[in-house]
Amino acid sequence: MSGESKQADVVVLGAGIVGTSVAVAARQRGLSTVLIDRREPGCETSYGNAGVLSSGSILPLNKPSLWRALPGYLTNTSAALRFNPSWVIRNADWVARFLANAAPSKVLPRAKALHGLIGASLKLHREWIVKANAAERIRETGWLKVWRSGALDTAKQEQAFLASFGIKSELLDRQAISALEPNIVPVYKTGLLHSQTASVDSPGAVVKAYARMFAGLGGELLQSDVKAIEPLADGWSVVLGDGAMSARHIVVALGPWSADLLRPLGYRTPLAFERGYHQEFAPNPARALQRPIHDAEGAFLMTPMENGIRVTSGVELTDRDAPSSFTQLDMVVPLARGVVEFGAAVGEPWRGARPTLPDSLPMIGPAPRHAGLWLAFGNQHIGFTTGPATGEAIAAMIAGEQPSFEVSAFAPERYI
Ligand SMILES: Cc1cc2nc3c(=O)[nH]c(=O)nc-3n(C[C@H](O)[C@H](O)[C@H](O)COP(=O)(O)OP(=O)(O)OC[C@H]3O[C@@H](n4cnc5c(N)ncnc54)[C@H](O)[C@@H]3O)c2cc1C
Repeated sequence: MSGESKQADVVVLGAGIVGTSVAVAARQRGLSTVLIDRREPGCETSYGNAGVLSSGSILPLNKPSLWRALPGYLTNTSAALRFNPSWVIRNADWVARFLANAAPSKVLPRAKALHGLIGASLKLHREWIVKANAAERIRETGWLKVWRSGALDTAKQEQAFLASFGIKSELLDRQAISALEPNIVPVYKTGLLHSQTASVDSPGAVVKAYARMFAGLGGELLQSDVKAIEPLADGWSVVLGDGAMSARHIVVALGPWSADLLRPLGYRTPLAFERGYHQEFAPNPARALQRPIHDAEGAFLMTPMENGIRVTSGVELTDRDAPSSFTQLDMVVPLARGVVEFGAAVGEPWRGARPTLPDSLPMIGPAPRHAGLWLAFGNQHIGFTTGPATGEAIAAMIAGEQPSFEVSAFAPERYI
């Protein structure tokens, strides 16, 4: 980029699923929009996830069952949740707030809020993926959660809770699981098929397709490192590694990097990182999977992807940029191999960071003390699902419209 200063109605920082969605929705409203990322669109967290477009993820990780599971996690040997003790001590405030949100009284309001966000988002994904010429990437085959030990009561409770929100699921026994997934070893006694959930075979490619759609709508993509944002008399200046530009509105959609840029403006955002890993494996074409499978007790997911079977791990709580530890992947890969036959590892293991606020709800809305500054991050485990409606709501608010779902629970001022 030249040193000459560009101008736009809206500059969106971060071209993950969230920022790209903001950009698409802003452009659809006729706003001149520039989408900036230091990498190509969809190369970070939005690349490495499990690709589940989940209708039923309305209960975040910090739900009442977390309290029951906590003693088991304290030994720090669980594949589901590992933590760096020094991180926990340094972030005791975040941990305490996260755990407090697991109280039974906190379940329903958050589930309602997430249900609205997810419902609006799935509608947009299904519309956009066609418009973006990527419809072949979406599978409407649901998502299968399975239990080895039976856990029939747990599965039934989950089904009843989902049903109370009108979310459909099917309870399955061992035979029904085999009928649905004939190529897996029958190790699971109970299954719950989230039948309104979809998945994609390459989340990164879907973000890239949405970014191409944005460019096709007349939006501008810019590859540059964002160094700072500074308020001007009538808008914002974005300081880039190779220049600067100005805009009436700035949207911070930098996923796990979002808090860094806000600190100099006086916002201390309690954003933590639920890190996770994946490794892909060469599939055996005679042993194909039909859908993502979530082994609830094994604490892993396996999803059939474009380049192989992607095994994703549980949560690692530590600093965003701390060196990788593949312990959790090493624990779950043999379990996955025991369920479905697959070949050698394809490529290197991948690491990402789910950006999470203490109540596991994203921030979607205006920054409290700066006009024209909009926040769109913190989409935790379901950001690939919830990106489009997050973007749509921000663009609507910028344009002075009412978002299509209730956004009050996502207001940034609850934390900053
Ligand atoms: C293991 C794992 C499995 C998951 N599975 C699922 C799933 O199945 N379904 C689901 O819905 N969600 C899933 N998630 C969560 C989901 O991936 C995230 O919530 C989502 O991708 C976050 O998107 P984002 O756009 O906020 O962030 P990102 O995709 O990380 O985008 C942020 C962008 O900001 C850019 N950036 C950062 N700093 C700068 C800077 N200074 N200058 C310029 N650019 C910058 C980055 O390059 C990046 O492209 C999973 C996450 C993990 C880790």
